[in-house]
Amino acid sequence: MNLVHHVLGSFDTNVYVLADDETSETLVVDPGADCERLAEDLKLAGLNLKYIAVTHGHGDHTGAVATLKNACGGEFVAHSGDRGQIEIPPPWLTTMMPGFIDPPPIDRFVEDGDVLHLGNLSITVIATPGHTPGSVCYLHEGVVFTGDTLFQGSVGRHDLPGGDGDLEIRSIKTRLLTLPAETKVLPGHGPASSIGEEASSNPFLR
Ligand SMILES: [Zn+2]
Ligand SMILES: [Zn+2]
Repeated sequence: MNLVHHVLGSFDTNVYVLADDETSETLVVDPGADCERLAEDLKLAGLNLKYIAVTHGHGDHTGAVATLKNACGGEFVAHSGDRGQIEIPPPWLTTMMPGFIDPPPIDRFVEDGDVLHLGNLSITVIATPGHTPGSVCYLHEGVVFTGDTLFQGSVGRHDLPGGDGDLEIRSIKTRLLTLPAETKVLPGHGPASSIGEEASSNPFLR
C-alpha cells in the first residue's frame, strides 16, 4: 500500500492518493483543485486510476474531479445524499474557488458498508451525515479519511446548507470514535490525528 498526500487549492484541501503496489490500481480522495500536475504524476508513475472518491459534495473536494477523470479515467464515486450539490454546484461556494470545474456525472453511488477494491486492498465506506447529508468517510486498514466531518481538534462546520450539527456529532461518536484508538485520522483539511487523540481531547466531542 502506497499513500501520498498533497495540499491543493485555495481552501488547502488534503488530497490523498492510495495505490495498491501489486496492481497499481489507485484511489484519489477529494481532488478539490489544481490536479493537472497530480494527473501527470499518476501517468508518469504508471498508476491505474480506478476510483476518484469524494467524502462529500462541497466544491473544495470536487473541483478537480473532472481534471483527473479527463486525464486518467476512473470512476467518480460519491454518496447520493450530496448528489444535488454535485450535479449543480451552488455558486456561494464555487465563486470563492478560482479554477473550479463542474464535476462530471457520478459513476458510482456508495452507501454505508460498501467496499471499494484496489487489487487486494479493501476500502470501506462509512456514512457520517452531518457536515452534509452525503458525507462519508473511507476506511482502509487503520487509516480513515474523514473529509470535513472530523478534524484534528475540531469538527466540520454544520451551518452550511444541508448541514446538521447534532447529526454530525452523533455520526462521529457512533461511527468514528468506535474505531480502534490507534486508527489514523486523515482529514479533508489540516494535520493528521488519531481516533484515540480525538476521543480524549477534541473539545467538540465532550
Ligand atoms: Zn465541506
Ligand atoms: Zn472542505
